[in-house]
Amino acid sequence: MKKTLQLALSAILIFSLLWPSSIGASDATIGSEIVNLRQGPGLSYPVIDQLEKGDTLTVLEASGEWLYVEAEGTKGWVASWLTTSAAQLPAGKAAGVVISQADHLNIRSEPSLSAAVLGQLFKGNEAQYIKADGEWIQIKHGQMTGWVSAKYVTLSNQQPEKIEKATSSLTGSTFTINVDAVNIRKKADLNSKKIGVAYRGERFKVVSQSTNWVQIETKDGSVAWIYSFYGSFSGQDASKKASSTSQNETVTIIYNGTNLRSEASTSSSVIQRAQAGESYPITGTAGDWYQLSIDGQEAYVANWLVTINNPTKKTQAAAKKISTERKKGSLKGLTIVVDPGHGGNDHGTTGVRGTEEKEITLKTAELLSSKLQAAGAEVIMTRQSDLYVDLRKRVSTAHQAQADAFISIHYDATTDSSVTGLTTYYTNSYQKELAQYVHAGASKQVEIRDRGVQLGNYLVLRENRHPSILIELGFLSNPNEERTITTNYYREQATLGIYNGILQYFDAQL
Ligand SMILES: [Zn+2]
Repeated sequence: MKKTLQLALSAILIFSLLWPSSIGASDATIGSEIVNLRQGPGLSYPVIDQLEKGDTLTVLEASGEWLYVEAEGTKGWVASWLTTSAAQLPAGKAAGVVISQADHLNIRSEPSLSAAVLGQLFKGNEAQYIKADGEWIQIKHGQMTGWVSAKYVTLSNQQPEKIEKATSSLTGSTFTINVDAVNIRKKADLNSKKIGVAYRGERFKVVSQSTNWVQIETKDGSVAWIYSFYGSFSGQDASKKASSTSQNETVTIIYNGTNLRSEASTSSSVIQRAQAGESYPITGTAGDWYQLSIDGQEAYVANWLVTINNPTKKTQAAAKKISTERKKGSLKGLTIVVDPGHGGNDHGTTGVRGTEEKEITLKTAELLSSKLQAAGAEVIMTRQSDLYVDLRKRVSTAHQAQADAFISIHYDATTDSSVTGLTTYYTNSYQKELAQYVHAGASKQVEIRDRGVQLGNYLVLRENRHPSILIELGFLSNPNEERTITTNYYREQATLGIYNGILQYFDAQL
C-alpha cells in the first residue's frame, strides 16, 4: 500500500520530465530500479511480473500514460513515466489520435498553463497528434493547432473516425441580439437582400441554424436570417434540454486576470479575477456582457474577453471542415474574417479632403467579402455597419470562428503630407507568409507607391492566433492620394488584388 503511494507520487514527478518525448519508435527502456508489469493500464491492476532497470520493451499500444508492452515474451502494462523513451506507439503506426478524457479540456497556443486558450475539447473528441513536449501534447483539431495537457487525454494509433454530423437541435430556443444593430437578411449570405434591422436586446424565435447563421422568425411571422455572431442563444425548451445536457453554453476566459463584475458595466465592482482557461456556465446576456454563475453567485464578464463553448456548434463546424476538401482556385471550406477598421465613435483618420477612414474601410471590406464569398469562403465581418467594435472582440471573432485568415482593412495617415503608398503589416511570424501574398496581390493591382511588407505591433494581429494581416491601402493625409484611393475604381482594384493574394496563399498551402 505504502509502496503504491510512493510510486504514485514519484510518478507525478517523473511523468512531467519524461513523458512523452517522442513518438514512432517501438522500443522503450525501463528507467527505474524495479518496475511492475501489470494486467491493466493503472496502479490498481495486479502485478504480473517485475522488470529491472535497463530491460528493453516493445511497445504495442499506449493508453493515457500507460504502455502495453512485451518484455521477454510476457505482455502487460507499464507506467510510461518509469520508462526512458516513453509513450511511443508501434513503429509504422505513428499517425496517432489524441482522445480527450475530459470536458472543457483547453487547447492552448503554447505548452503552458499561462498561454492563451484557443479552444476546447470535450470528452471523446478526437484530435490529430503532432508532437509532445514535457507533459503537453501538440494537436491539430479541425483547423486549429494547439497544446493540451497530456494528463487528460489518451493516445490511440487508430485513424481518426469521421466526426458524426451533429444535427442542429437549437430549434425552440431564442436568439438575442448583442450588438447595437444587425441586418436581417433573406438568405444566410452577406450578399443577400437586407429585409430589416434588429437592435440590441431584441429576441427572436430560432427556426434553424446553419454554421454562422441563424434562421429566425421575424415579428411579422416570416422567416429570415441573422449572423449568429451578433447574438446569443438561450432558453431551449424542456424536451431538448432533457435529451442533451451538452447544449449548455459556457464561456472560457481568454486572459489572465480578467475582471468578473457585479454588473454588466466596466464601472461596476470587481467580484473576482478569473484566469485564462477557466470556464463558467452562462446564465444570461446583457448587451456585450455574459451573466455567469460562479459557485451560485451571479457575475458578469465582457464578451470580448471570453470564447463561447457550444459543443453542438463546434462539432458542426468540424464536420463541415472535414467534409469539404479544398481544390486549387477555390476557397471552399475556408473561414475568413474581414475586419473593417474603426467604426462608430472611432472614426479612424480623416482625410485632408474630409474622407472618414471608418466609412471607406467598411465599403472596401464589403467588396472584399463578396469576392471571397464568390470563391466559396465562409466570410465573417467583424462589423457590418457603422458600429464601434472593441479590438479584442475583433480578435475573439477570429478565435471563435477558428478563422483560416483574418484581414484587417485600413487607410493610412501621417503628419507629413508628402508620404504615400501601400503597406501590409504582420506581427507574429506565422502571419508573415499571408502578409507577403496579400501584399504582392494588392500591389500588382493598384498604382500607388509600394511601401512593402512590414512588421507592426497591432493588437488585432498580436493577439490573433491565426494567420492575420493589416493592410493600409494608401494615405488619406496626402491630397492626391486621397483623391485616388477614395474612388470605387480603386476599391475594386485593391480588393481584387487582396483577393488574388489570399487565393494564392491558400493554393500554396495545398
Ligand atoms: Zn486605421
